[in-house]
Amino acid sequence: MSRPAYASIDLDALRGNYTIARQMHGGRVLAVLKADAYGHGAAACARALAGLADGYAVAFTDEALALRQAGIDAPILVLEGAFDAPETHTAVRHGLWLAMHRSDQIAWLAEASTASDAGIHAWLKVDSGMHRAGFVGAEVKAAHQALQAIPAVSQVTLMTHFARADEPHSDMTAMQMQSFDTATAGLPGPRSLCNSAGLMAWPDARHDWGRAGIMLYGADPLPASGATLRPVMTLRSEIIGVRELAAGEPVGYGATFITPRPTRVGLVAMGYADGYPRNAPNGTPVAIDGQAGRLIGRVSMDMLTVDLTDHPQAGIGSNVELWGAQVPVSDVARAAGTIAYEILSNVKRVRRIHTSS
Ligand SMILES: *Cc1c(COP(=O)(O)O)cnc(C)c1O
Repeated sequence: MSRPAYASIDLDALRGNYTIARQMHGGRVLAVLKADAYGHGAAACARALAGLADGYAVAFTDEALALRQAGIDAPILVLEGAFDAPETHTAVRHGLWLAMHRSDQIAWLAEASTASDAGIHAWLKVDSGMHRAGFVGAEVKAAHQALQAIPAVSQVTLMTHFARADEPHSDMTAMQMQSFDTATAGLPGPRSLCNSAGLMAWPDARHDWGRAGIMLYGADPLPASGATLRPVMTLRSEIIGVRELAAGEPVGYGATFITPRPTRVGLVAMGYADGYPRNAPNGTPVAIDGQAGRLIGRVSMDMLTVDLTDHPQAGIGSNVELWGAQVPVSDVARAAGTIAYEILSNVKRVRRIHTSS
């Protein structure tokens, strides 16, 4: 028997969540598969969404080429754009859609494309206030003209990205929408403003193309959206050791947990080298044979410990869910002081099992 630690990926849930995203958004929606689909396996997710998704998005060209190699021929947007002229050339040959956030990238595209590349779809990134990447104010019009002057470019989509769309009470998203509208006034072409939180919480921002990431994986980016997203990944392992400790005994590295009562401790085959967050504190939720339980002691590289005192039926071989349908990944992330994006995309070393009806 091999180590009983695995991430099962429910591709039906992925398809269901994509359908919700598309219904909410109205227009077309790119499924964001960067960072190996937030740890879920980009090629498998792309295949599962084939025929359903309008296209995909990844962070950089190599991620897109890996999908092309896996036989995905649908549109793929490269969100960071190319890093140099030769890469631009490669991206054009593979029919990738490149985002342009810097004028060099437009020059590379002009250089790399020939008349026979006709039909290039470029995406022009507008900095509407996040101040991470993109053209500002009057630069937008100039960049748009430069793109349209490239004979092979047939379509320019205007895009921007929100800094605080997951905060329904912040006025920053409305300000960004306004700033985007001002910078792009009079320019032709489709618009793309929304990430998951944008398309869920800001109906006025929806426009032509959404770019949905985290919601596809069933983690709700909003505090209380009421959306019926289904978790896609279940991170699971088993109890591989049990010990009974008297009150006052330490557990694990640093002795950060001292048993407050006689305690039955379960050892679980899962650690931070698998992507489980090392700084998850005592009390972080887990499910033990379907019952709510909690982490105790520090997470080690390959193992972690849970409190079995109130789970008398549990023992060697009991199932432990670290996150999934019973333990929301966002709750684990919050306990560990981070966000679901980070812990999902950190999953590694465990076997990944894709399931589909
Ligand atoms: C990652 C990313 C997205 C997807 O964001 P989610 O919050 O995961 O929906 C959309 N647009 C851009 C530019 C991104 O980098």
